[in-house]
Amino acid sequence: MEKNKSIFYSDKESSLFAEKNICFILTSRYGGLSQSPYDSLNLAYHTGDDPNAVSQNRKLINQIFFPTKKLLWLDQTHSDDILDIQNKPYINGFISQGDALICEDKKFAAMILVADCNPILIYESKAQIFALIHAGRVGIQKSILTKTIQNILKKPQTKIENFLVFIGASIRKCCYEISKDLSESFPQKYILKNNSSHKLDMIAMLQDELLKNNIHPNQTQILPNCSCCQKELFSYRRDNITGRFALIAWLK
Ligand SMILES: [Zn+2]
Repeated sequence: MEKNKSIFYSDKESSLFAEKNICFILTSRYGGLSQSPYDSLNLAYHTGDDPNAVSQNRKLINQIFFPTKKLLWLDQTHSDDILDIQNKPYINGFISQGDALICEDKKFAAMILVADCNPILIYESKAQIFALIHAGRVGIQKSILTKTIQNILKKPQTKIENFLVFIGASIRKCCYEISKDLSESFPQKYILKNNSSHKLDMIAMLQDELLKNNIHPNQTQILPNCSCCQKELFSYRRDNITGRFALIAWLK
């Protein structure tokens, strides 16, 4: 089957998630209705794009990929606020501010928006609970990944060995230059120095954080793609005024 151009990657291509009871899609920037510089599948309202185009884009994705599910989303603020969507009220799918969602209800699809930050899916494959996380540099420094893992582990019958993790495209060490001052706030093993430039390796930080939580590489899939290098994706670093792509997940 030919891949839909709106999809950059999905569970269908993943051997780690094969035969599992969860679906996910990582969207591309193609196949939507937004005009330049948001062309064309921008899924975020806060970017300055025409809100009607964003609504249409979301509807399009909803109808094609998860027509029976209600799409839920957050106002992301680079916080470490984690929302358990169990019994949370929502308006038009919007829940509240926050940067991670925990879901165990088949009625919903959950969405995290990014353009260089890390979109992360965590799935407890036996208890069938998942979380989506928006983790940029600030979220990583606030340990939103570890805090989300700990929140899932508070639920009955959850075990770290049942966890599967997917990290989608994000800005990588090839492109993520930060100031010297900022670079000094990180352990130096995560900084690549080249003459006067300092580049941050967020993936190495996330890999170490997963290991610290006893989640091993064989439970983890990390896409190799850099959002800033990849023209099929929105990149804030590359284009500044631009759209957002999304990691969306739902239980079968
Ligand atoms: Zn790059």
